[in-house]
Amino acid sequence: MLDYNASVLLIYTGGTIGMVEDAETGVLRSFDFNHLKGYFPELNRLKFNIDSIQFKEPIDSSDMDPEKWKKIVSIIEDNYSQYDGFVILHGTDTMAYSASALSFMLENLNKPVILTGSQLPIGKIRTDAKENLITALEIAVDKDKDGNAFITEVCIFFQDLLMRGNRATKINATNFKAFSSFNFPILAEAGTYIRYRHELMHRPLRNSATKFHYSLDSNVAIVKLFPGISSKILKAMIAIPHLKAIVLETYGAGNAPGEKWFLDIIAEAVNEGIVIVNVTQCAFGSVDMNRYQSGKALKDIGVLSGYDITTEAAVAKLMFLFGLGLDRKEVKRYMKMSIVGETTIE
Ligand code: ASP
Repeated sequence: MLDYNASVLLIYTGGTIGMVEDAETGVLRSFDFNHLKGYFPELNRLKFNIDSIQFKEPIDSSDMDPEKWKKIVSIIEDNYSQYDGFVILHGTDTMAYSASALSFMLENLNKPVILTGSQLPIGKIRTDAKENLITALEIAVDKDKDGNAFITEVCIFFQDLLMRGNRATKINATNFKAFSSFNFPILAEAGTYIRYRHELMHRPLRNSATKFHYSLDSNVAIVKLFPGISSKILKAMIAIPHLKAIVLETYGAGNAPGEKWFLDIIAEAVNEGIVIVNVTQCAFGSVDMNRYQSGKALKDIGVLSGYDITTEAAVAKLMFLFGLGLDRKEVKRYMKMSIVGETTIE
């Protein structure tokens, strides 16, 4: 049920949705929110209140970083009690990273935080921006008959699909269907009606307040395996000063070369205290380090399973846990559990 007395805060960070073409080169660059609104008179026809706030300099989301995630969290914290929901307009390129980070930084949410954007700027006649934004706004004010928000987590809404933010991945650079949630079902689908899968939603702990976190530790690296990866490259990665964690993108069910040089370098990193999380390069499915000898060898060294977590969520979770000031033992403990539905522990 749409709550017509509701208020939504629209946070405009940038992205294609509000970009304009440079007259000379045709290259897309960020533009401000008033421009976007000018192309979108439908916003005034929505019956609930929409206020907006924008980044001083709207960005291409390739420039997104932990500092800007903190800025988004502080905007939400400052306005939390005044709004029923939050819609974040964001470039698609790093939207899955931002959604993952926010899912950890906004603890015990009891209101919707929906990220959306578009593949074509709002000024283009075939734009996907209007559909995405209007429906995201409606989802942000959708409630049950007792006035409880349907969504109490960070989500991405794109091309008719509402996905858990920390389960989504950008899958297409050009199609309107730009995101997928490979290892977790869609939370809602918008057609003639918006059909919610209430039983899948992440719910806040009753009697616990929402907490806003601002510390992230970006001493985290992603290492993607490929046939031919050399000891030189691997050694250089683990020698990075202050490195605390590696998301190791392995093959299939969590497999990696079984050669001695490779296992020795990984073992050395683990012994030095670097937390290594095994995440599969496959889109669907989970790491299972008990399935093959090559996966088992990593487990025996002390590499952790990331189960079916996305790389985006694994990076954000490690930044968040180390940002809390936890020691490596505690970080490992939390990596073995799901905090906000980011992974399925088998
Ligand atoms: N480069 C753009 C961005 O991520 C792409 C988009 O918005 O779709 O900001």
